[in-house]
Amino acid sequence: PYDGPSADEILAKRKQYLSPSMFCFYQKPLNVVDGKMQYLFDENGRRYLDAFGGIATVCCGHCHPDVIDAIVNQTKRLQHSTILYLNRAIADFAEALTSKLPGNLKVLFFTNSGTEANELALMIARLYTGCHDIISLRNAYHGNAAGTMGATAQCNWKFNVVQSGVHHALNPDPYRGVFGSDGEKYARDVQDLIEFGTSGNVAAFISEAIQGVGGIVELAPGYLPAAYSSIKKAGGLCIADEVQSGFARTGSHFWGFETQGVVPDIVTMAKGIGNGIPLGAVVTTPEIAEVLTRRSYFNTFGGNPVCTAAGLAVLNVIEKEKLQENAFIVGSYLKERLAALKDKYEVVGDVRGRGLMLGVELVTDRQLKTPAKTETLHVMDQMKDLGVLIGKGGYYGNVFRITPPLCFTKEDADFLVDAMDYSLAKL
Ligand code: PMP
Repeated sequence: PYDGPSADEILAKRKQYLSPSMFCFYQKPLNVVDGKMQYLFDENGRRYLDAFGGIATVCCGHCHPDVIDAIVNQTKRLQHSTILYLNRAIADFAEALTSKLPGNLKVLFFTNSGTEANELALMIARLYTGCHDIISLRNAYHGNAAGTMGATAQCNWKFNVVQSGVHHALNPDPYRGVFGSDGEKYARDVQDLIEFGTSGNVAAFISEAIQGVGGIVELAPGYLPAAYSSIKKAGGLCIADEVQSGFARTGSHFWGFETQGVVPDIVTMAKGIGNGIPLGAVVTTPEIAEVLTRRSYFNTFGGNPVCTAAGLAVLNVIEKEKLQENAFIVGSYLKERLAALKDKYEVVGDVRGRGLMLGVELVTDRQLKTPAKTETLHVMDQMKDLGVLIGKGGYYGNVFRITPPLCFTKEDADFLVDAMDYSLAKL
């Protein structure tokens, strides 16, 4: 039983002592005190199905026993910086993680977050190419430090600070984009940006395979091969941001970029990598990685023993529990059931995504695709009251984001869709 402060007391302390920039979901924010696999429990012991935990880093399930054991055992033995000495945890995890990547993506550098990983990737690309220009996609989210905030392309996540050398390409968004699902047509804009916005040479192109914060937008088929081809011709490196779409989430593949059949020069990752432990990584080729030897470069806690022990346990759990296969089977089933809601409710404009990274976009007018913002908030609140937690995203805040821990079951999927169905009916 929980005998700590109530939700209201915590909220009052937050208001007094924490940055006013911190926000919460729900009109009455939830006080979560326990987690077990795909479930969260509030202060009264009420259980919620967590269909958004995947985004908050959990891929194996909350408090997975194998991951906890790895963390506790390593913590009891040693926790330290990675700068000064050898330790097996970082080496073992690096070996296991690089074995999951294709081509010559064989060396990596650990960070503490997705932002740090992308900052490093952008810097490596600039060092390697000697160019400054970066191309990223409109609607992208890549982080909130100086460089990554520049690459991020939604004004609601950007402060008015200098954005140096970033060009934002037309988003290959099959639902809202002008060229529908024709990826190659959108990629022409990357070529145009190179020709009309730069010297003809660029440092890098960075993109997610499925935009998460942007509202589960899966890039139109054929986009990445065409965009990568333009970038390579301009001497640039292709960076895949796998912070959300990596670690088996798409079900069909281990990495999101694989769904488009490309091999990037640099892959960045975070979130799911440590099942809730702060950890990120930048994987690249040995040749590109050489650039960091031009100076001394370190990250005090990037890849520390406790976090990398957790990372290794996560990879083992994904394999042992066949979580990629589960993401595929349960995700396909869930998507089919969600798609049926589109036939039933005019307000459901689009159902999309892959594996256990799914989106449902609400619109008040299907022709005009007018974002149904209020309805989205209302349904989310209703579903919470019914015991189901989902996320929201998209530039207009009108897309449900469904990214549960990968241990999600068909029964969970049914419960989620039934709760959404009921809440939509009551709109
Ligand atoms: N890239 C993507 C695709 C993300 O979704 C996020 C976080 N939402 C980041 C980078 C930044 O990660 P972090 O919050 O760990 O810095």
